[in-house]
Amino acid sequence: MSQAGDSLFKEGLKEGNLSKLRQVPKAELHNHCGTGMRFSTFNNWAGGNVKRPPQKMDGVKGLNDYIFGELNKYITKEEDVAFLIEETVKEAIEDGVKVLEASIDYHEMLHFSEWNNFFDLITSIKEKYRALIDFRPEVGMALTTPRADLDKYIVPCIESGAFLSIDAYGEETKDSYLKLKEYYKYAREKGLKLKIHAGQFMDADNVKSAVEVLEVDEIQHGIGAIHSDYVQDLLKERKIRLNICPSSNYILGAVEDLKKHLARKLFDKGIVITINTDDLLLFNSGVSEEFLLLYKIGLFDEDELNEIRKNAWKY
Ligand SMILES: [Zn+2]
Repeated sequence: MSQAGDSLFKEGLKEGNLSKLRQVPKAELHNHCGTGMRFSTFNNWAGGNVKRPPQKMDGVKGLNDYIFGELNKYITKEEDVAFLIEETVKEAIEDGVKVLEASIDYHEMLHFSEWNNFFDLITSIKEKYRALIDFRPEVGMALTTPRADLDKYIVPCIESGAFLSIDAYGEETKDSYLKLKEYYKYAREKGLKLKIHAGQFMDADNVKSAVEVLEVDEIQHGIGAIHSDYVQDLLKERKIRLNICPSSNYILGAVEDLKKHLARKLFDKGIVITINTDDLLLFNSGVSEEFLLLYKIGLFDEDELNEIRKNAWKY
């Protein structure tokens, strides 16, 4: 990381200058490809009649209602999936993101008559933008994915070589991680990085079980960890980073007030955190905007945010 990047980033924050912030290298480690572009991009592509996302949503259920009830109506064939992935990558490039780990839900594969065409598409987009961004495709699935689907779809995705990491998301339940255990173990054997959504709405026990059962490398959200010193020690010991998405947490109701976002307390406890978008289409805030937002509301100062920016390269 260059010194020049450090000063430009801090200057950008102090001046409220997004274009400076966008010039500084950033990474995004928590992003879902199906919703990784601006609403306006999606709406223009889809013909202009897409219903806007609500300003506030009732947790994962509210998010799923919008994605399944509205956006997915427009995704029916191979070219549509290509659009979702490529636009997510282009949007990240626009924002100065140099490393992008974005999940692609295995359901997108069902729009392809030949699965290899799905894997080849992902690899071709990665190659096409290689000079501008290190796009690291991640295979994604709901935490509730039935075992039959894990065998039929997730295993071939793990074996395809198209994905560098794995993530599961959606409604958190107490025992959802156990079912995934052998698949995560297999993904590890195949060299994939292991990530999981945990502690988004649920408490520290949920984070603990994700870490202990699945032996993940990173946690998406994980803010529930704040309620247990034991779990925080576990995260530190195992060098597990929390990839946090402030606007998403606020809009979905995981935190009531952005000014009291738990990212602050976690940072103070020495937990390694990063700042990410989650779903740009829904929350309308890119990585640079998220950093600026946290600066403006006074949650972190410019030095702390610069440290958080660089945390993405820490492990
Ligand atoms: Zn997420």
